[in-house]
Amino acid sequence: ARGGAGAMEARGVRQVVVVGAGLAGLGAVQRLRGTDSGSVRLLEAASHPGGRVRTRPFGLAEMGAHWIHGPSPGNPVFCLATRYGLLGPEAAREENQRAEAGGHPSLPSITYGSSGRALSPQAVREAHDLFDTLLASARDFRGAEKPPAPSVGQYVRTEITRRVPLAILATCLKLECCISGTHSMDLVALEPFGEYISLPGLDCTFPGGYSRLPERMLSTLPEGTVLLNKAVRTIQWQGSFREEGDNARDYPVRVECEDGDTFLADHVIVTVPLGFLKERHQDFFQPPLPERKAEAIRRLGFGTNNKIFLEFEQPFWEPQQQLIEVVWENESPLEKPSTDLKANWFKKLIGFVVLQPPEHGHVLCGFIAGKESEYMETLSDAEVLSTMTHVLQSAPTGNPLLPTPRSMLRSQWHSTPYTRGSYSYVAVGSSGDDIDILAQPLPEDPKDPRPLQLLFAGEATHRTFYSTTHGALLSGWREAERLNQLLEPSRGSEGQK
Ligand SMILES: Cc1cc2nc3c(=O)[nH]c(=O)nc-3n(C[C@H](O)[C@H](O)[C@H](O)COP(=O)(O)OP(=O)(O)OC[C@H]3O[C@@H](n4cnc5c(N)ncnc54)[C@H](O)[C@@H]3O)c2cc1C
Repeated sequence: ARGGAGAMEARGVRQVVVVGAGLAGLGAVQRLRGTDSGSVRLLEAASHPGGRVRTRPFGLAEMGAHWIHGPSPGNPVFCLATRYGLLGPEAAREENQRAEAGGHPSLPSITYGSSGRALSPQAVREAHDLFDTLLASARDFRGAEKPPAPSVGQYVRTEITRRVPLAILATCLKLECCISGTHSMDLVALEPFGEYISLPGLDCTFPGGYSRLPERMLSTLPEGTVLLNKAVRTIQWQGSFREEGDNARDYPVRVECEDGDTFLADHVIVTVPLGFLKERHQDFFQPPLPERKAEAIRRLGFGTNNKIFLEFEQPFWEPQQQLIEVVWENESPLEKPSTDLKANWFKKLIGFVVLQPPEHGHVLCGFIAGKESEYMETLSDAEVLSTMTHVLQSAPTGNPLLPTPRSMLRSQWHSTPYTRGSYSYVAVGSSGDDIDILAQPLPEDPKDPRPLQLLFAGEATHRTFYSTTHGALLSGWREAERLNQLLEPSRGSEGQK
């Protein structure tokens, strides 16, 4: 049974390993109690903490998370960032925190057709309003036994009846692919779509960069806790492992790193991304994960959304514009998109967000999702830059003489070995239950004398906040709390360290 005298006796010698120093892993370590200093190790494959939170000094380019979605008192990332003094004065305003943006910040924007003409703001607004209405209604099928379509994409398409704004609606669907981190909304299951919860609050950013958050979190941990460049190769569990020369104590889990180092543990919190699990779970865990969990890993969706940052000597956009949307005028969401990636990959681009504030340079951030985004990752910097220049010369400016951007930086999340994509979604054929199955600790038997050998955190394990930083942080806290309960059941749950 959990806890009790056995657990108390074992206190102090409990060894905990956390794999992954993203927000889930860092949050978990900050929250752990009942472990002595030196008994917790956080192993991170990369040379930096933060995982998919990664700021680069390119106009403060956020390679991963950009916004705090729903920055309000219910959002733990918002609370932590506020406590660390990392946010600007706008974010602190109560009106901002109460605003209901429905998860989609609306930025002052302009929309260009691919022929270079600016589209009528009214037509664009009407199309966006129609799309928003359709998407909001797509959230109404929670629990429906027979949803009208299997996927969000099919549902939205069948609901679209007006011909005029079709091309704009095609861009709306592509934008939704970026938000959902998927190749196509046809892959996103309709019935569970409404389970994702948007918190209130107008999305805000970190004036000093998102990476300040994981860096601050890391600085609160005892020295030596976090080991960077320490990729884990395998996690053996249900074993009986001893330190050399110490026969008094055996551990059920052995974590082996790529560099040959090993760590014995009673508990391991695994926060690696779902993309990594999809690729590696069969040989990463020994013995392999139970079939139920392996199935959940296979079924849940994990796609790619990338950013392309372009820096200009001078802005060609108006100072008030924050979003430059690009619409491919002959497209329709009712037609199958081209599969010729080489010829058409760039048409998946939805446009560019203007990075604020301009003190960091005149930088646009393009967003592109799906297989086209993965194809973009295989191209050279020069090829991407030349294609982007061509897109900008034809669509938003109609100016073939527009100077080439001064420099370019892009994310390549699909090729990043320990991530393998951007974030998770509930795919057709899976459900929110798969998220819960993924989150369940192992061994499954609650009476196992060596409980909680493997615990699972990370954004993909949060049923209502998956794909976000706050979902990741909360999942880390959840698993830390689960261990706290085992190690010190009498103390109940308390505030964090
Ligand atoms: C392009 C993009 C834009 C985004 N925009 C936003 C946004 O605006 N707002 C928002 O809220 N969220 C956003 N997100 C999502 C958000 O960044 C993630 O949900 C969150 O950061 C995930 O945290 P995590 O701890 O679950 O995983 P991660 O941050 O991925 O951390 C997992 C860590 O595990 C490490 N790891 C993996 N395998 C191993 C191994 N074998 N051994 C050791 N370490 C390993 C990885 O290197 C990584 O550091 C965005 C993500 C991307 C990619």
